[in-house]
Amino acid sequence: MYPDRVVSGMRPTGALHLGHYHGALKNWVKLQSELPCLFFVADWHALTTHYDDPSVIETSTWEMVIDWLAAGVDPSQSTLFIQSRVPEHAELHLLLSMATPLGWLERVPTYKDQQEKLADRDLATYGFLGYPLLQAADVLIYRASQVPVGEDQIPHIEMMREISRRFNHLYGKEKGFEEKAREAVKKLGSKRSKLYQELRTQFQEQGNEEALEQAKAMLDDAQNLSMIDRERLFGYLEGSRKLILTEPQALLTEASRLPGLDGAKMSKSYGNAIALREDKDSVTKKVRTMPTDPQRVRRTDPGDPGKCPVWQFHRVYSDDAVRQWVDKGCRSAGIGCLECKQPVIDAILAEQQPMLERAQQYIDDPSLVRAIIADGCDTARKLAQDTMRDVREAMGLGY
Ligand code: ATP
Ligand code: MG
Repeated sequence: MYPDRVVSGMRPTGALHLGHYHGALKNWVKLQSELPCLFFVADWHALTTHYDDPSVIETSTWEMVIDWLAAGVDPSQSTLFIQSRVPEHAELHLLLSMATPLGWLERVPTYKDQQEKLADRDLATYGFLGYPLLQAADVLIYRASQVPVGEDQIPHIEMMREISRRFNHLYGKEKGFEEKAREAVKKLGSKRSKLYQELRTQFQEQGNEEALEQAKAMLDDAQNLSMIDRERLFGYLEGSRKLILTEPQALLTEASRLPGLDGAKMSKSYGNAIALREDKDSVTKKVRTMPTDPQRVRRTDPGDPGKCPVWQFHRVYSDDAVRQWVDKGCRSAGIGCLECKQPVIDAILAEQQPMLERAQQYIDDPSLVRAIIADGCDTARKLAQDTMRDVREAMGLGY
């Protein structure tokens, strides 16, 4: 099988906010020490909604990479790159588009949602409809196993899996596959190839799952196999198809849908966001003027945390003791709303402080950021080219 790999991207359409951090970025930072990770600036995706005014994309691209670094993404552990600098993503998008039913794209919930929410933009475009398919190409081109994203992305990941399955089904029928697989079996050496045959028969004739697992483990251990032969042998165990693309899984954080200042999902387009590196006074002011339980008009009125957007922030930022203090104080009108907000303000500022410090060196010397990205683009491109060779060959374009 292919090695575990993590891939995720973000659109450079403005400064990152706390929703991006708690929804996805936090997981990026965690995963980078566990698995190979690739994180990209989705500049083509930004164009799907900002095609008529792309000026924001260039500045946001570099600012966003600084946001990532500030949040703790470590370029010595993960690969950071820009989507448009790996044009293979566009090639895979095109090739996948040939066999993607229109209905799959039209049914993606974000398609209609976004068109309604961003009603001031004309999103009845080919590019916008194809956006989840481009995402599928972004992830499948690295044969990713895991995709750390916010909750809104789950339907997109589901569709990616279907796209991958369909691709393997249509094009995994390598010419002369059986013959090539049998050749590969021989390369295992006499003892192992005998065991492989036995296990394969046990699985195919009796459905023995343990035999399948044992055979897979043996293939993982077999040092002398080429990547492509190993793939064939995996495919041959279960049938007679090659798995050219993988089926990635979404990976969520605890706050996979962080609400904004008004209680709706935090989003820069709704004007309810706090930026990752926002000025202290601005953070303080935004939280202090945040709406609270609408029933709690006077200081003496008891409130209901369940109806208050500030409570949602306590759920992310406060420990049990503070939450109990809030719950009790609010319901009994023992504390006022400004008092209740203070621990949230303190926690956000404390979270941001190390980020502001880490960002500084990159603000002072932007060439550091350019170098990180140049490196990452090279690394990513090589991986993408490997997959594209297999994809082209599978689709009969290997000439
Ligand atoms: P915005 O909604 O602010 O315009 P965006 O949707 O354009 O942002 P994306 O690049 O699509 O930004 O999102 C980047 C990642 O951040 C995705 O994984 C997305 O799921 C996640 N994300 C965005 N907003 C939130 C949120 N409020 N809570 C949790 N995750 C979020
Ligand atoms: Mg989004």
